[in-house]
Amino acid sequence: MMDAAHRLQRAQQCLMENEVDALVVSVGRDLPYLTGYEAMPLERLTALVVRADRTPQLFVPGLEVPRVEQHPEAFETIGWSEDIDPVGLVAEALAGAHRVAIGDQMWSRFLVELLHQRPDLSLVRSTEVIGAMRMIKDDDEVAALAAASAAVDRIAADLRSGVIPLVGRTEHQVSMDLSERILAEGHERVNFAIVATADNAASPHHHPGSRIIGENELVLCDFGGTMDGYCSDITRCVVTGTASAEIREAWEVLRTAQQAGVDAAIVGAPCEEVDRAPRRVIDEAGWGRYFVHRTGHGIGMEEHEDPYMVEGNQRPLEHGHAFSVEPGIYVPGQWGMRLEDIVVATVDGPRRLNNVGRDLPELQ
Ligand code: ZN
Ligand code: ZN
Ligand code: ZN
Repeated sequence: MMDAAHRLQRAQQCLMENEVDALVVSVGRDLPYLTGYEAMPLERLTALVVRADRTPQLFVPGLEVPRVEQHPEAFETIGWSEDIDPVGLVAEALAGAHRVAIGDQMWSRFLVELLHQRPDLSLVRSTEVIGAMRMIKDDDEVAALAAASAAVDRIAADLRSGVIPLVGRTEHQVSMDLSERILAEGHERVNFAIVATADNAASPHHHPGSRIIGENELVLCDFGGTMDGYCSDITRCVVTGTASAEIREAWEVLRTAQQAGVDAAIVGAPCEEVDRAPRRVIDEAGWGRYFVHRTGHGIGMEEHEDPYMVEGNQRPLEHGHAFSVEPGIYVPGQWGMRLEDIVVATVDGPRRLNNVGRDLPELQ
């Protein structure tokens, strides 16, 4: 169970350590992470103001107050009535503060209005204050990620065994099928269900369309949702019939590369090493120019969040960092493939949260 008082106290500590006077978060994931409350993305302002030396204040539209689970030991909830200016309330709560951290998803209209009232503010991103804290998943968060991962593993198992029909359906139909299964497996939300066939798969974020899936085609499925507030994300590929020798060979390279990425996810190793290890394998096999994206992204309450497994990210991995390892090979005009698991770095070594098979099934 998330403990708002504990998380807010740590956020206050982070403010002091970073010499930031206040943290303001609005819609987005920082708010439920800190308070358990998820704000609707409305034109009415919701804002949590955290300062090191006082009780955090959550300003919410009056009509939303009943939706806020109260934690009086952790924060004070203030419902604002429609005849007052809520930005003025936030400006007041920031009296005497100068360096202020703002959540990434706060609407610019509120920030613009706040800056009109407080042009002296110097702004930083909330990730600079609580990013390091949010990146490290506690045991409950890892359990939530594992449960979401197990749910999409079951769908991937059905895909790999041929239970989910492919041939003769459009990519869009299969995408809708995956989406229904994501919900049926207990997610509250579908975040994406990419289905890409043959040369369409050469575009990593292909939007599933009206292409009818044929025989002997490589089909890439990358899907995930949000379950109890935490995200799943998996990619598996299958062939509807027989794979060409080239595709079989490339798949073995990809599988070896993905394993190398997982093996590199050692506490203390820089994030960029998780990117480099699979890239080396794919480079050596001669497919390097077809691996066109970073190896992975952090995952938690957001489907893509820090830390990113990308060249140049020297942040050392810590126990509790959770992220995808998803190398791919994309040959324009021909085919594309990707293999993705969610991995948690732990003091006992990398732990995969997705455990469904990683070969390339040839479905007859
Ligand atoms: Zn992606
Ligand atoms: Zn994915
Ligand atoms: Zn991913």
